[in-house]
Amino acid sequence: MRKICVLGSTGSIGVSTLDVIKRNPERFSVVSLAANSNVEVMFEQCQRFKPEKVVMVSESHAKVLQARLSEHDLAIEVLSGEQALCDIASEDSIDTVMAAIVGAAGLLPTYAAIKADKRVLLANKEALVTSGQIFIDALQASKATLLPIDSEHNAIFQCLPWAEQEKVGACQLTAHGVNKILLTGSGGPFRTYPLTEFNDITPEQACKHPNWDMGKKISVDSATMMNKGLEFIEAKWLFNVEPEDIQVVLHPQSTIHSMVQYKDGSVLAQMGNPDMRTPIAHALAYPERVDAGVDNLDFFTTASFDFQAPDFERYPNLKLAIDACKSGQAACTALNAANEIAVEAFLNNEIKFTDIFKINETSVKKFVLEQVTSIEEVVHLDSRVRQFATTIVKDNAVNHV
Ligand code: NDP
Repeated sequence: MRKICVLGSTGSIGVSTLDVIKRNPERFSVVSLAANSNVEVMFEQCQRFKPEKVVMVSESHAKVLQARLSEHDLAIEVLSGEQALCDIASEDSIDTVMAAIVGAAGLLPTYAAIKADKRVLLANKEALVTSGQIFIDALQASKATLLPIDSEHNAIFQCLPWAEQEKVGACQLTAHGVNKILLTGSGGPFRTYPLTEFNDITPEQACKHPNWDMGKKISVDSATMMNKGLEFIEAKWLFNVEPEDIQVVLHPQSTIHSMVQYKDGSVLAQMGNPDMRTPIAHALAYPERVDAGVDNLDFFTTASFDFQAPDFERYPNLKLAIDACKSGQAACTALNAANEIAVEAFLNNEIKFTDIFKINETSVKKFVLEQVTSIEEVVHLDSRVRQFATTIVKDNAVNHV
């Protein structure tokens, strides 16, 4: 029986994780849950899964939840604050952490889980993007296991030789005949949208992904293809490869979730319907397989498989992220922080869709030469970049950057 803490339980990945757990009660038990402020969904999850502990980061929302649980005679401990996230992610009573908080807010609890030798299922790619080598060093120094949840990285993982699957963070892919990782992406909702109309794209349009149903931040990132850029950086660290060893391939149908090219000409692909419960179930049960509630892929109704190279004029954020990956940690940390501010401002209708790139590019240029060698320095840089990007938004200065 795996004892699980779900960080970000009220979000898209969190809800899918609990769905897989519900289907396999003999294998998984929920010990703790965490979210920011969504009391309604958390209350339902408490009723259904009866965890021992719950964290609502927002203190006022924690109080509301506590009152509702007491009214229903549910004896569940409710904690609040960011430190409580780190505490539940590193407690002895759990062995597995689903890291599914969105954004850099997930960094410290995920890092705490690694340092506490947990089995960490990583959906929160921003944690790895923002801290790179520091995160991997902590992984190497611990007895923790890291398993990728992002469908692309989970697909790559599944296409690797067994020996390499055991070495996430320190893989030696060339020695095992791998010569390229093919990172697929659908191209999002604007793959064929006229470039001349990009300025007028609304948050509603950007959040309508053609294949995947996801949280708002990752949906916007998919529309700009910043998500693929963050995944590019994530792949570098997870599989210990150089940027030159990763190729982004547009595949609009999202049936192939990524591929690994070997030096004898073989290409191994992992396929399936676009449903995050597949990689979640894979990582939860690894190395075994469990029911995920996902329909079989029907090849007779599957549309054709198309592939194309990404167009960087359409997706400048993807190019920016690949360049940041080559530049070093400060560029990646700055890019991630700026992007979080820019996406939030776009979702609040404060800036245009095309301004996201301007804010990201300006922030990377400003902070690229900073040194980040510890988790404290990562947190400090992240906070300075956020202030800088917020100033651009608030001063309405985006047209002058
Ligand atoms: P959602 O926006 O749907 O959910 C985010 C979760 O994080 C919610 O539980 C939210 O709580 C919680 N949260 C937000 N801010 C904080 C905070 N400051 N402190 C603590 N908890 C917080 O996101 P997704 O589920 O879509 O994505 C989660 C992560 O998984 C992201 O890193 C994303 O890139 C990655 N991912 C997502 C995929 C998907 O299909 N959705 C696919 C692959 C990766 P509350 O509800 O209370 O606000």
